[in-house]
Amino acid sequence: MAEAQGSKGREKLPQTCRSRHPHLGAFYPGCQARPVLIMMGASNLWFPSTQSIIVMPRSDAEKKEVLADHLRVELGIDQIKQFGDQIPVIRALASARNIDVSGLADADIAAAVAEVLAPPESEEAREERRANWDPIELLIPEWRYLQKPALFPEQQNNTGLMVTEMQRGPDLHPYIARVVGVNRMKRVNAVLGFTRLDEMDRVNDLASRLVDLTRNGKPAWVPATEDRGEGIFLQFDLDAVAKWEVRVEGTALWEAHRESHRRNFARRFSETSKIVNPDTRLPSPRYWLVHTFSHILIREMAMYSGYGAASLTERIYAWSEAPQREAAAGLLICTTASDSEGTLGGLVALSEPGRLQGIVLSALRRAARCSSDPVCAMRTPADPEDFLHGAACHTCCFASETSCEKANRFLDRRLLIDIPTANGPTVPGFFGSAHGI
Ligand SMILES: [Zn+2]
Ligand SMILES: [Zn+2]
Repeated sequence: MAEAQGSKGREKLPQTCRSRHPHLGAFYPGCQARPVLIMMGASNLWFPSTQSIIVMPRSDAEKKEVLADHLRVELGIDQIKQFGDQIPVIRALASARNIDVSGLADADIAAAVAEVLAPPESEEAREERRANWDPIELLIPEWRYLQKPALFPEQQNNTGLMVTEMQRGPDLHPYIARVVGVNRMKRVNAVLGFTRLDEMDRVNDLASRLVDLTRNGKPAWVPATEDRGEGIFLQFDLDAVAKWEVRVEGTALWEAHRESHRRNFARRFSETSKIVNPDTRLPSPRYWLVHTFSHILIREMAMYSGYGAASLTERIYAWSEAPQREAAAGLLICTTASDSEGTLGGLVALSEPGRLQGIVLSALRRAARCSSDPVCAMRTPADPEDFLHGAACHTCCFASETSCEKANRFLDRRLLIDIPTANGPTVPGFFGSAHGI
């Protein structure tokens, strides 16, 4: 090892990259990079980049939208080219492959066939679509579905989803507007690629950092797993959140978080920051609020649900209003495991009105104190610090890697509840004073 270090050692290493991609079993000559020796403190060199969705029943409009993809995958382009102008044949072929086309008009099927046969999009258009894609787009359909309790009784069981609108307990905090019990759910996790040395969302999250999954860089399919579980969805009072957010945005604490995020972005995302404004990547105060609430609830629920905290996962729906989407503030705490763990019913049972209100109350009261206070309660990033959390630590708020979707960033108890400091509360807590709840 010593011989490979330093400038002399570097001369002994191969002078050019061999261009080998071990996971593809292939060589791609042409890489001009020069190998260097680096020391790694962690054992993982490859980080999967994954995306997950909850399987939801499709509306008729959505069924039409995905028909083209179904036909492309199940029948293949060759068969569609051959029989594309004979709709009854396409119908028969689709039915034979278990694609339900009975409720669709001939015109809908003809439109799907035309979409399959349309020339593939240009490389530039594809790259642009990839660069502009926002992961929030995967969450919007889930949020919209959960907004429509009228659809719940009609849900088809073939999606594996069963949700129930629950009563709110009389003593549940008024800012928690809705409670939905998720009796059964299915989550699909897909691997989109890998990054090396660092996770995708920790350093330079450019699409070009993703190592391709196939030799041509355009996989027709990706590996995915299906997990079953249960959960609880809570929705905040959207008007109250919007009013509170305006008050927080003007505070010194929020400005400190924003500055810290800018520094962090400039250092860790030096490539991305050339083309992206760091402020567009900072989650809004409502995300911090819902995220912190989710963590304290996971800790509390782990004590009553029969699942360990590491088996509970969060899904945060928190974004401000934008042209293509309405504002959201809610969270889903769920269990998802690829085996029978996660379907025992202990978590969804906590959505009963009498039990939930007690759990929320004790979680909020617990959040008002941390055994690392006052150090924890007063933690505010100041130049040159660039950490991305405030009053949160391993004692009070942090969750395990399997639970948190943002690696314990964007957490601050002060946004949740008024925490007294020597100089008084620094920011209005959404739920107010711990004594008042
Ligand atoms: Zn703490
Ligand atoms: Zn989290």
